[in-house]
Amino acid sequence: MTPKDLKAIVRTVPDFPAPGVQFRDITTLIGHGVGFAAAVGHLARLAQAAGAQAIAGMEARGFIFGAAVAVQLGVGFIPVRKPGKLPVATLGVDYVLEYGSDRLEIDPGAIAAGERVIIVDDLIATGGTALAAAALLRKAGAVVPTAIFAIDLPDLGGAAKLRADGIAVDALMQ
Ligand code: 5GP
Repeated sequence: MTPKDLKAIVRTVPDFPAPGVQFRDITTLIGHGVGFAAAVGHLARLAQAAGAQAIAGMEARGFIFGAAVAVQLGVGFIPVRKPGKLPVATLGVDYVLEYGSDRLEIDPGAIAAGERVIIVDDLIATGGTALAAAALLRKAGAVVPTAIFAIDLPDLGGAAKLRADGIAVDALMQ
């Protein structure tokens, strides 16, 4: 399936999680066996072209795509977690996102110095989540050349912010 076909199976839910928001819901995409496999295949090709030595994905929807991409490439997966979930001393970063504020944490031991880590998430909106994840991964010693998304919402400017931070951005659909 082409990215255009995949776009047709993403569901749009109006007024979630707040009035006026058009939520792009990937539940229908990952529930479509052929569509999910095609999306992961496209993302994996982009991650491979970016020289991925590991994949980092943000809790929770980034785990779905990121882990699948890591398996396809045979590289490790680094979970970027919500606070208080990891059982070890963590590195953390607080950030502002579209619907409030949040914190991300990683196990610094999961990253080798200079490792090329590619960020994978379902969607980029304002870019706050991905920028925070990139800052955290870099703090742990990673090189973060590229971030890859199933969906980019270009009107919200996130991809442009990442590019301004020196991170290449790829997405399957807008
Ligand atoms: P940002 O930090 O770029 O503003 O928001 C992106 C993060 O919020 C991603 O982790 C993504 O999962 C979530 N998000 C924000 N808006 C949407 C949306 O419309 N659909 C989905 N699936 N996730 C969203």
